[in-house]
Amino acid sequence: MARYTGAVCRLCRREGQKLFLKGDRCYTEKCAAERRPYPPGQHGQGRSKASEYGLQLREKQKAKRYYGVLERQFRSYFEMARKRKGKAGENLLALLETRLDNTVYRLGFAMSRAEARQLVLHGHFLVNGRKVNIPSFLVRPGMIISLKDKSRGLDKLKSVIEANASRVPPKWLDYDANAMVAKVAAVPEREDIDIPIEEQLIVELYSK
Ligand code: SF4
Repeated sequence: MARYTGAVCRLCRREGQKLFLKGDRCYTEKCAAERRPYPPGQHGQGRSKASEYGLQLREKQKAKRYYGVLERQFRSYFEMARKRKGKAGENLLALLETRLDNTVYRLGFAMSRAEARQLVLHGHFLVNGRKVNIPSFLVRPGMIISLKDKSRGLDKLKSVIEANASRVPPKWLDYDANAMVAKVAAVPEREDIDIPIEEQLIVELYSK
C-alpha cells in the first residue's frame, strides 16, 4: 500500500495545526509547526482567506494526515461510513480510529501513528491470538489485542511503553497494562476521539 513519504512537518504547517506525526520531536521546541507557524513554501505567509470548498478540503486533508491514509482508502472509508447507521462523519472517524495501527498508538506502544504502523507491519501484535500485520485491519468490539510474547523484551518497545505509561487509553479500549492485553469494549464515540476535526465539512465535501 502506497503512503506519503515526504517531509511530514510540512503537513502540520500546511494544516496550521500540530498533527503529531514525528513522535518525540513533536513535544519539543524543535517542532516546526511552533517555530514556523505559517504554511510552507514561497507564498506561505501571504495566503488569503480560504473559500468554503477550501475549508472542506483542508479538513479532509487533515483527517487523512492524522491517520496516515491516502485518498483512495480514505474515500472507501467514507463510503463504508455512509452505509452505516448514524452520522456519516462520526462513523468515518470511528472507522479511522479502529484501524489496528491507530489502536496500537492509542494503547501507548508507539510515539506516533507512523511508528505504530511499522510495529504492526513487523508482526508484533496479535488479534484474538493470531498475528495480524495489516495496519488498516479494523478492530471490532470483543476483539483482543496483545503484544506478542517474543516482542515484550525488545528494548525499543520497553522504553516507549515506559515513556507512555501515563497516557490513558480511550474508554473504548479496556487495557490491562500489566498483561499488555486490550479488549475492544465498544465502537468509539465522537467524544472519545480527541482529534480537532470538523467531520461534517468532510461529509459536505464528498456530498457535492
Ligand atoms: Fe508536526 Fe511533530 Fe513536525 Fe511538530 S514536530 S510539525 S507536530 S510532525
